[in-house]
Amino acid sequence: MHKGNLYVFTGPSGVGKGTVLRRLLEEVPGLFLSISATTRAPRPGEVDGEHYYFISKEVFERKIAENAFLEYAQYVGHCYGTLERPVEERLAAGSDVILEIEVQGAMQVHEKRPDAVMVFLAPPSMEELSARLHGRGTESEDKIRRRLETAQHELEYQANFDHIVVNDTVEGAVGVLRELILGARTQA
Ligand code: 5GP
Repeated sequence: MHKGNLYVFTGPSGVGKGTVLRRLLEEVPGLFLSISATTRAPRPGEVDGEHYYFISKEVFERKIAENAFLEYAQYVGHCYGTLERPVEERLAAGSDVILEIEVQGAMQVHEKRPDAVMVFLAPPSMEELSARLHGRGTESEDKIRRRLETAQHELEYQANFDHIVVNDTVEGAVGVLRELILGARTQA
């Protein structure tokens, strides 16, 4: 059976990755989003096992020791990681899998899995990114400032990606990604 394709989907916090991904997953059958593990606390409305596996620092460290992560990284004081086994199982079953992760983790996947398709979702501008982060209203001013600093750093990594998609409009970004994923299937 043909194996699925692995996609790494990265972009600064607040760029709209979540919104674009939700739409993409609705529009593309056979595409699955990997559920990450994190040590950060759930935001209002987030469900364990659906948005993330919310785990303690101790459990996260045990999983590192067990080599359970395809990649993991620290981001604004918390740990985030992709569990390898569920991803491999999906791919082996012929489904496409998408990882929504930050840039350090993306680079680890790029090293380990050179076949992974690297996609960067870029904001139209830093001003627009700042406006979106403030508009979300879920983080303190200090957290937003740290996320913007991290974003500035992340933008410097764009050159390492196969595809840079500017999130001008959700429809536009979803359309580009859908064509990319469906196109890769016909080449397989
Ligand atoms: P948030 O706290 O806003 O949900 O996520 C913060 C950042 O962590 C985002 O940039 C998100 O893409 C990233 N992230 C989520 N899951 C993972 C993961 O499994 N690995 C890595 N490296 N980053 C992740």
